[in-house]
Amino acid sequence: MSRLEILSPHCPVDILPISDSRSGSYHSWPGKSLHEFLSKSPTARPDVDPSFTDSRLPDDDIIFPNLPPLRNGHPDVHLRNGIMRASRLAMIHEPDAEAAFFVADLSQVYLQHQRWKRCLPDITPHYAIKCNPDPYILRLLAGLGAGFDCASAGEINQVLDIGGIDPSRISFANPCKAASFIRSAARSGVDQMTFDNADELHKIARMHPKAKLVVRILADDSKSICRFGIKFGAPLETVPGLLSKAKELNLDVIGVSFHVGSGCFDPTTYTDALRRARAVFDMGKNVGYHFSLLDVGGGFEDANFETAAAVIRDAIDVYFPDRRNIRMISEPGRFYVSNAFRLAANIIARRAAPVDAPTEFLVKEDQPTVMYYINDGVYGAFNCILFDHQTVNPYVLSLNGSFHVSASEPVAVSSVWGPTCDSMDCILKSVALPGALQTGDWLGFDNMGAYTICAASQFNGFEISNVIYTTGEVGAEVRQALAAFAAKGYGL
Ligand SMILES: *Cc1c(COP(=O)(O)O)cnc(C)c1O
Repeated sequence: MSRLEILSPHCPVDILPISDSRSGSYHSWPGKSLHEFLSKSPTARPDVDPSFTDSRLPDDDIIFPNLPPLRNGHPDVHLRNGIMRASRLAMIHEPDAEAAFFVADLSQVYLQHQRWKRCLPDITPHYAIKCNPDPYILRLLAGLGAGFDCASAGEINQVLDIGGIDPSRISFANPCKAASFIRSAARSGVDQMTFDNADELHKIARMHPKAKLVVRILADDSKSICRFGIKFGAPLETVPGLLSKAKELNLDVIGVSFHVGSGCFDPTTYTDALRRARAVFDMGKNVGYHFSLLDVGGGFEDANFETAAAVIRDAIDVYFPDRRNIRMISEPGRFYVSNAFRLAANIIARRAAPVDAPTEFLVKEDQPTVMYYINDGVYGAFNCILFDHQTVNPYVLSLNGSFHVSASEPVAVSSVWGPTCDSMDCILKSVALPGALQTGDWLGFDNMGAYTICAASQFNGFEISNVIYTTGEVGAEVRQALAAFAAKGYGL
């Protein structure tokens, strides 16, 4: 017998406005932080006026006329506002009314930068823009004085086009570059670039003989989610030969970089990498170089950042006790942006799971009974599941057309799928979600800022989800940093 019969009938999209935002039932499931936030800041209230159909809100701020407006308040408020707006647009039959959308909280980027400066004050971060080249993030970090790690001529131009960023703040940190990109970096005044092989040295000697070179060495990446070692990094035994070759070509090598791999869960890896970097500083001395740059790369995680920072500080003290003439930089990506973006996706369809679905990868209790189809998938924001080895955790934003979601809702084992016609487009094979979820309801996903939008495609005609921006918890500081940058004529 088909399991279709166990599903309750389809319910029209009908998002109930919130009557009392401070009531105890005002929670998304399984309970997010909005309630706490509202109790702490009594002025912050969601926009509950259902007649407000414009996309602009009364307290929207425009600092950069070509960018979307900046909003105030907790990101969860904007998730709900976005959902209410979608339901109003659906009522007037607006095409794509229920489109998935991100809420970006710029405070999170600001706070991560403060955290970096507090824990590693002597290491200047160069944000790896590939992680999320969002225009507000680039402007905010530019205004806060960060540098940038770029991997292509396109990324270099994207950073320089903002204005106010001296090319010396950019590191061209791709060890294997197209010759034309090296020439284009030279024209743009970007001198600092990495290499890990002899061919690269010949290209650079031809295209940018005045470049400031950084040798990217191989680090142990076995403790990271995304390993880079099979593609980049010179093994230590090859470094003396590379440095001699650089000398022979009259090139200026100024220092050492490494990358322990993205998503590094064992911070002691940095100790070993810094030990190797020390060895390479000494190799440089043997060839006649006096290195002045130490680049500790990326891989930093939100969860264990303080531990990683302490490990790095200790290892630098051990291996680089005299650093008077050494400039220290890093290339964090994920650390800055991962928790700054949330995604709201609409359940566009629902089916009973076929009874005879392939079972090889799941035990019986994990077999889903319901399949939900949402309007962003692995060809869009959830490409992080394929490329960045992420697992995502959905929570319920609306249930049966209402924001009132009780924590005791009975759950059903479910699977969650993206909107395309590819069966690979699966977001979760098996997850517990309330059985009462309907087509038209919304799921939320946190930590969607790193390696998501940047690699999203429009496969099958599905657009990349829009971003709503809020300045969030430390909004005054964020606005001040952005406004000061804009006041100098930059970023406009
Ligand atoms: C991707 C990348 C980074 C950023 O890595 P995260 O793990 O996001 O911090 C830094 N440097 C280089 C060379 C990279 O390729």
